[in-house]
Amino acid sequence: NEFCKNLPKIELHAHLNGSLSSQTLKKLGCFDESIEEYHRLNKVMERSSRTLDECFLLFKVAHNATRTKEAVYTATKDVIEEFFNDNAIYLELRTTPRSEECMTMEEYVETVVKAIQDNKLNIIVKLLLSIDRRYQLPASDNVMNLIIKMKNKYPDIIKGVDLSGNPNVGIFNSELFKKAKESGLSLSLHCGEVKNDKEVEEMLFLNPDRIGHATCIHPKYEGSEELWNLYCQKLIPAECCLTSNVVCGTSKSYANHHILEWIKNDLPFTISTDDKGVFNTTLSTEYELLQRHFDLNDSDLWKINYNSIDYSFAESSEKDKLRDIMLEWKTKYM
Ligand code: 5GP
Repeated sequence: NEFCKNLPKIELHAHLNGSLSSQTLKKLGCFDESIEEYHRLNKVMERSSRTLDECFLLFKVAHNATRTKEAVYTATKDVIEEFFNDNAIYLELRTTPRSEECMTMEEYVETVVKAIQDNKLNIIVKLLLSIDRRYQLPASDNVMNLIIKMKNKYPDIIKGVDLSGNPNVGIFNSELFKKAKESGLSLSLHCGEVKNDKEVEEMLFLNPDRIGHATCIHPKYEGSEELWNLYCQKLIPAECCLTSNVVCGTSKSYANHHILEWIKNDLPFTISTDDKGVFNTTLSTEYELLQRHFDLNDSDLWKINYNSIDYSFAESSEKDKLRDIMLEWKTKYM
């Protein structure tokens, strides 16, 4: 609807390669069949059983399309432009440093940063660098060292570290993320996408600045009441991705989405796309879904979006600017 589309929006959870649109994939030389593969999830959605592992196969299509510096640059530029066209005024992109035949991990990060620096559109863009759960020591430590080095080189752009990748794979290494925190990086950890109370507890004790998804932190899970209480004490903002969770089957339906507990209990959350390309969504669509399934009015949506500024990793002067834009918009249009 018009309100969700026109609202100046804050996006805090968008994976670069998962955000590539069909147009960008085509531009990068992907054939129609592989794009179809990318959108195969629409078909997977109709089946009664789908797995998170199945969803993760789709990232390979995007990764195949961004194996050169030129492609990474184009991909980043296009994603920024598409969020801007959807009226996002602030975007935190995240991506996993990757080496390819003709590009080192460092060059990959440099290229994404360059595309962000070259952005002339009226949208503030920051970068989070992701550690894939698949990496074990010493590889994960090497990636973290690179992330810290790049953050020191581009402190205005690189703001945080993310832990992502298939949640059924790998282990969470708390020490690694302590090191990121100590070096001044903010933390956003994918947390509780699948049931793993011990890991969730360990993550919460680390006090990350935000957590991604938080699907399995829920008062109704038998035996997980303590974990829920711990979360309620910590009040760490959750990045909620409605379409992604429903498509991947970690939430049974929109109506059953765990965000309901956050709304009911007035807990901090933000609305995000996760992978707008893979899941064929937009940030406006996510707000529309939130409104439709949880009976919220325009003022509620405005406030949820406004609160997201607090949870962002922007500089405080940038946060002030974003608040001004949103307050002005409210006065004019609401
Ligand atoms: P990239 O980091 O290559 O720019 O974006 C794609 C990557 O983001 C995927 O390969 C995966 O590691 C991570 N990712 C994207 N969506 C999700 C998600 O919903 N959950 C988790 N855990 N990781 C994700």
